[in-house]
Amino acid sequence: MSRKTIVVALGGNALIAEGTEGTIAEQFENTRKSMDAIVGLIQEGHKVVLTHGNGPQAGVHLIRNEAGSAQVPPATLNVIVADTQGSIGYMLQQSLQNALHKAGVKKDVVTVITQVEVDPKDPQMLNPNKYVGPFFKADQLEACKAKGWVMKEDPGRGYRRVVPSPSPVDVIEKNTIKDLIDDGKVVIAVGGGGVPVERLPDGTLVGVDAVIDKDRASALLANLIGADELVILTGVEKVAINYKKPDEKWFDAMTVAECEKYQAEGQFPKGSMGPKIEAACDFIRRGGAKVLITDLEHATAGVDGKAGTLITK
Ligand code: ADP
Ligand code: MG
Repeated sequence: MSRKTIVVALGGNALIAEGTEGTIAEQFENTRKSMDAIVGLIQEGHKVVLTHGNGPQAGVHLIRNEAGSAQVPPATLNVIVADTQGSIGYMLQQSLQNALHKAGVKKDVVTVITQVEVDPKDPQMLNPNKYVGPFFKADQLEACKAKGWVMKEDPGRGYRRVVPSPSPVDVIEKNTIKDLIDDGKVVIAVGGGGVPVERLPDGTLVGVDAVIDKDRASALLANLIGADELVILTGVEKVAINYKKPDEKWFDAMTVAECEKYQAEGQFPKGSMGPKIEAACDFIRRGGAKVLITDLEHATAGVDGKAGTLITK
C-alpha cells in the first residue's frame, strides 16, 4: 500500500446529517462521526487535506443579516464565506483532533482561511445564477435591488438573490498548505470553495461577492499541491447512470471520456453530481492521476481500490 497525498472533499452530509435541523449540537455530533473515516486514511499513512462545503451554513448567516438588519450592519458574502471557514473549520478540526487522540495517533490539525482567485472576466461573473439566502416576496424586490443585489424568481417559491459562481483560477494560500502537509500536518482548507477574490492591476487582492463550487476549488487545490488523488465524499457509494431509474447502473470505474459522454447525455444533474464529475475531469485533464467518488463509510476501502467509483484518464 503506497502512501499518498489526498485531497478529501467532504459533502454536505458530512456536516449536517439528513433529517436533522442542523443545530450546532447536531452538526458537532455529525462531524465527530465523519472524522472516524478520515482517521482511517491518516492511520494508513496518507497525507490528508480536507475541504468542505458551506451552503446551508452560509444560508444561515444570510438569514441573520436580514433578521439583524435594524441593529447591526450586514456582513458581505465574502466575509460570510470566511466566517463559515472558521466555524466549520473549528468543528472539523476539534472533531478530528479528538478522533486522532482516541485512536492514539499523534498528528497536528490546522484550518487555513483560504482565498481563491477568480477572473473578473469569467462569463459567470456577468451571469449570476446561483441562488443564495432566504426567499423574498414581490413587494420586497425593490428594497433588495437597492442593496445592489440581482434578484431572480425561483419558480413557485418566491424571489431570491443570485450571485455568480465563477471558476476558481488560483488558490492564494497554496504554498502554505503545501508546506503544512509536507511538514506532516493535516490541513483543512478551501472551505465553502474558498473566499472568492479578484486580483487588482496593482497586484493586491479584494473580496468578491460570489460563490465557488467546493468540488471545483478542491480539484484545483489538488493540482496545485501535486496531490496523488482527489477523493470526493458524498451521499452515494458510487456514480450511476440512469440514477434512480429501473435501468440504473453503478460504476466501479470510469474514464474521463465516459464521464464526458454521460455528462452530455444529462446523466449528472447541475446541482448535485454534475459539478463533481466536472471537477474530477478537470483534475485529471490538468495532470492529476485519479479521482474517487464515494461516501464516508467507504472512504478507506475506496482509497485502497475496493469501493466507490474511480475516475482515471
Ligand atoms: P454534496 O455531497 O457535495 O452535498 P450533493 O448532495 O449536492 O453533494 O450531490 C451528490 C448527490 O447527487 C448524491 O448523493 C446523489 O443523491 C445525487 N446524484 C445525482 N445524480 C447521480 C448519479 N448519476 N449518480 C450518483 N448520484 C447521483
Ligand atoms: Mg448534499
